[in-house]
Amino acid sequence: MIHLGNGVLLTMDNRSFRFDPRRLEPGDVNMISHAHSDHLPTSFKDMAATCSPITRDFVRVRRRKEIEIRSEGGVRSLEAGHIAGSRMFAVKGDKTVLYTGDFCTRDKGSTKAARPHKCDILITEATYGKPQYVFPEHSEVIAVAKDWLEDIVGKNRIAVLFAYPLGKSQELTASFRDFPLALHPTIAQNNRLLRSHGYDLCDAEYDPERTKPPFVYITSGMGKDREFVRKLVGRGAKTAAFSGWALDRGYTYQSGVDEAFVVSDHCGCDELLEFVRRCSPEKVFTQHGFAKEFAHLIRRELGIPAQPLVARQHTLDHFC
Ligand SMILES: [Zn+2]
Ligand SMILES: [Zn+2]
Repeated sequence: MIHLGNGVLLTMDNRSFRFDPRRLEPGDVNMISHAHSDHLPTSFKDMAATCSPITRDFVRVRRRKEIEIRSEGGVRSLEAGHIAGSRMFAVKGDKTVLYTGDFCTRDKGSTKAARPHKCDILITEATYGKPQYVFPEHSEVIAVAKDWLEDIVGKNRIAVLFAYPLGKSQELTASFRDFPLALHPTIAQNNRLLRSHGYDLCDAEYDPERTKPPFVYITSGMGKDREFVRKLVGRGAKTAAFSGWALDRGYTYQSGVDEAFVVSDHCGCDELLEFVRRCSPEKVFTQHGFAKEFAHLIRRELGIPAQPLVARQHTLDHFC
């Protein structure tokens, strides 16, 4: 039985498995796929979970809770390729159930690709689950972005790159390591945490005393930093966003940036479909983003029963 509520609850062989629960429940097998806030617990009735050491350390920083990593019989953690420390979970019981969380099957500068895993039931994300979302070759996009940056830096100017503090920021830090980087303090802090896990990432914070043009400032551009970015733009800074949504027409204009580059931490629709095919499940549940559209696509293109995961009980054996 699969139930959407406090995370995704799977009951199988008299055990309860929770994927990305909001509340860690004692007695259940709690699994945390990665450290983005929509996947992290907010309430801790239990202090143990299955997750990567990196995710554990981000729980410490972001939730100020010390959780203990527990490995459970029948549960395998697999690389998800989404952000540092992201994991998919394969639960083996009466059936093999694979939960992807957010995942990506492209190798990138700071993460390794997720690989398909044979399963009976697949619970997959569908953020970009519409056919128009096909991402270009990652290395080619980065090469074009480097040309853009070289031009700016060559003119002794400032570039501002907008990116999520965890995930995209590390990708940009790794990809643009040869540029004079200046990071928002939160991003520098995240990079420092990852350095302690062996990541080779620059952690140079922007310093008003010492950082002089040319430099490349990486920031989320949110909160108090909005005003700061406005000032940099007033000094002639050029801005760029990095997102899968940059495929949408009008994205650059709506985001108010000078340039937008198609870089995503997720699979494109073609990659999602290929992943499902290679996992060869009997049934698929989709969630997040274009869940309904992607379930339809799986049925039509692969002939595999698929449906969006909604807040009611789904049995593993049939679809209602
Ligand atoms: Zn995520
Ligand atoms: Zn997510």
